[in-house]
Amino acid sequence: MNITVPPNLLKYITKSKLLNFNKCENFFKLNLLQNQEGNKRKSPILYNLENEKVKELARSLYGNLQILPKFNDVQEAFQQTLLKLEAKQSISHAVLISKDLIASPDLLIVHDDDSLEIIEIVTSINAKKDIEIILSFYLLVALELNLPVKKLTVIKINSNYILDNNFDIQSFFKIVDYTDKIENSSNLVRHTIESIRKVRDGIYDSDELSHKICSNLKSCSFQATCFPNLQDGDLVTLRESSNIINQLYAANIFNISDIPIEEYTEDLTKKQIIQIISNKYQLAQVDKSNILSFLTRIKFPVYYLDFETINPQIPFYNKTKAFQHVPFLYSLHIWRDPNNDELEHFDYIQDSTSDPRHKILENLSQLIQPRGTILCFNDFFEKRCIQESVQFVHEFQDWFETIRGNFLDAAIPFKSLDYYSYKQNGSASLKDILPALTGASHSHLDIQNGHSANLIYLKWIQSFSGNTIPDGKVLEQLREYCKMDTLALYLIHKKLLEIVN
Ligand code: SF4
Repeated sequence: MNITVPPNLLKYITKSKLLNFNKCENFFKLNLLQNQEGNKRKSPILYNLENEKVKELARSLYGNLQILPKFNDVQEAFQQTLLKLEAKQSISHAVLISKDLIASPDLLIVHDDDSLEIIEIVTSINAKKDIEIILSFYLLVALELNLPVKKLTVIKINSNYILDNNFDIQSFFKIVDYTDKIENSSNLVRHTIESIRKVRDGIYDSDELSHKICSNLKSCSFQATCFPNLQDGDLVTLRESSNIINQLYAANIFNISDIPIEEYTEDLTKKQIIQIISNKYQLAQVDKSNILSFLTRIKFPVYYLDFETINPQIPFYNKTKAFQHVPFLYSLHIWRDPNNDELEHFDYIQDSTSDPRHKILENLSQLIQPRGTILCFNDFFEKRCIQESVQFVHEFQDWFETIRGNFLDAAIPFKSLDYYSYKQNGSASLKDILPALTGASHSHLDIQNGHSANLIYLKWIQSFSGNTIPDGKVLEQLREYCKMDTLALYLIHKKLLEIVN
């Protein structure tokens, strides 16, 4: 497929174009064209709920700061930036333009000796490589403008910060000097800028989209554009390494069921072979003996437990860290007797801005006794939630020690593909296993995944103001969602028992 980016889309080179180009040239081009058509992919409404708040806090570290308003014309913004700098005024939302390069550092600080410091505020945890590229780019633009930049700084969230009654902004942020850390990325930045200019000027090697399978293929929204033959096939759902996908695609194999196992035995993993056989014969693959071993580890009473949590960047509850997952809702189904199908259900959701941990631990400590099995999907998460909560509410530490060894991961048979159905489409998530194995599903619910539940509740508690109590309907939706998760664990357990019997 030939793709030409109109030069006007590349009039200016910005940090996001630079980052996109570095990640993937196809993505860079397709993203530009999509934006041109006004189809900019919208982030979920609640995504990055707190980023602007974090930036505002970071800005407040610098008292004498002027926030430049947003201008429709970048040249005007640039002129205003220069005026502020001439007046020795530190600014936020600065715009620097050198030829076709636009840099917009979060903060530009003017020091007493007239030197400048460029500061980038980082709101996520994993952005190390991108930060170096961004700062190298800003420095390059500033130096081309002969601005006396002496220091490059990153303000990031200190993930070890613990809220201790009063919010301590100095401890919440980590201020890191990057001045000597960007050497390696400056060449990369220059090279990328040159490559983008070649694309714009029509002298780039090729306008062809690359058709090699890329490492982000499974999650990229341009998958079908880059690899049109995958539209009718399910090859991309093959589990594990994507190297083999590359090989198969090159051999014009686009469906898992078309893979000739004999020809690729050396390259295919055991799990991939299970997946291929299931797809070929449209049958679930079952290792009864392994499933039986798993099931014998489950002791009665069985506690099917699930938490919904929030993990705000700015800690909301006392004695929590930035990004720490704090449970605000649990659902617990209990199956007490293998000879009696009666299932009990309990849950609790915090319906105010108070810290939910004490009530949740109090409830669970009464309901979960130190015998039996606590079945969770990816039990590490639930265990960690309780462990971190009892570090705050110490009185439940002893209870936790009595049940700590009783957790069991319900995902084990599915991660190991002791059970695999082609209906799972390569996924081992609870949401895909449940319908494939039992026919039940989350599809009727208003909230259908944990990430949404997290953001919805965070928004809900943040919308308390004065005497205003937000609409409680959302709490019911959250409870229904969490309840379905633990019911799913029970249904899956029952189905596995049926299979081995
Ligand atoms: S599918 Fe891969 S190659 Fe295509 S744009 Fe996405 S990341 Fe790039």
